[in-house]
Amino acid sequence: MFIKNKNIYLDYAATTPVSPDVFKAVNNCYENIFGNPSSQHAHGQEALALADEARERVQKFFNCASDQVVFTSGATEANNLCLRGVFKRAQKNGIAKPHFITSAIEHPSVLEVFYELEEEGALVDVISVDQVGQVNPDDIKARINNNTVLVSLMYVNNEIGVIQPIREVGKIVKKVNDNRLKHWKQLKVNERARKPNRIFFHSDATQAVQFLNCDIEWNYIDMLTCSAHKIYGPKGVGVLIAKNDAFILPLIVGGGQERGLRAGTLNVPAIVGLGKSLELLSEKEKKKVAERIRVYREVLINEIKKLVKGVKINNEFSCSVPSFLNLAIKGIDAESLAIALDMAGVSISVGSACTSHKVKESSVLKSIGLKKDEISSSFRVSLGKHTKKNELMKFAVILNEVVLKIRG
Ligand code: PMP
Repeated sequence: MFIKNKNIYLDYAATTPVSPDVFKAVNNCYENIFGNPSSQHAHGQEALALADEARERVQKFFNCASDQVVFTSGATEANNLCLRGVFKRAQKNGIAKPHFITSAIEHPSVLEVFYELEEEGALVDVISVDQVGQVNPDDIKARINNNTVLVSLMYVNNEIGVIQPIREVGKIVKKVNDNRLKHWKQLKVNERARKPNRIFFHSDATQAVQFLNCDIEWNYIDMLTCSAHKIYGPKGVGVLIAKNDAFILPLIVGGGQERGLRAGTLNVPAIVGLGKSLELLSEKEKKKVAERIRVYREVLINEIKKLVKGVKINNEFSCSVPSFLNLAIKGIDAESLAIALDMAGVSISVGSACTSHKVKESSVLKSIGLKKDEISSSFRVSLGKHTKKNELMKFAVILNEVVLKIRG
């Protein structure tokens, strides 16, 4: 790693440093291959070959087909493309008020899109979560109606790391689709009205990719979003996997790249970096990192509890990925704490990096039942593959010192 900043970094959920192998692959591209992958000549074709190689890596990782991959500028764009794209297509297909189902703790790049779509005519059911942050799949099932076009449920939450029952929800959506189609096929031809809507199941897997099984077939997922910079890849590149192009309309039109779903010259070096970062995430690597940081998280929380008074853990470890620790310290304003920790040499985050510039209380923590004062004293610590045990021990000591100073 080539990180000059000596502060202790405990904000891996915000972003990760680029792996040396990813850097090499990206650099090779910048040094040697500059062609436009849409060009027919040799320069273009060698760039296309690199983009295709990355596409194959995406395909392999998620168990999808190569023509189901749409490269984007990140997970935000991928989520926008998925939700808005399905909405636009549904309206074009004659559904005036397409119905969507989502959860209360989605990333803003999902929830904010839904708020806008509601103004444009969509009906959105936002499912609440339980105290640990999980949805009840039966609640989703109960909301499905004839106009439902999409269920969007994140795989892992970006503030508390809770894992949603993706496979179960995927199975439910598939069963509804199968039953509707079966019933429709059984009707006599003259009795058949419009073919039933196919309901799509989308999952924002941005925070799940480095730990969980993201095989879309196994999970019954139709559309999946991810981003390279959360998995030791470059920023500004992500992917939408869409099993069926025909049900999405593009947001960006132009030269027809990505099968017409996302126009614009491919950012080949970034795409190469994304492909490489996925390739590096072998099952063995995922397991190794997960096991190590799961132990580290225990060590850290025990140490913090030993040193600091009034600590409350906001996330349930048994159903969250091992990198997340969300804490509240009684009577301490988390914003001030984060600033003091930064000055003392530790990078943590209040809420998530994407929402932290807005002075807004965390809707995720509110959804799991935290009170106002608990929310304002909550912060997120997220570990990663470079986290060292001694850094965590040091952090616990610094945290205690900072808390004592604030408490006076
Ligand atoms: N979804 C989730 C769950 C995320 O954590 C993030 C990044 N914080 C995004 C979407 C947005 O990703 P990007 O930065 O690639 O736009």
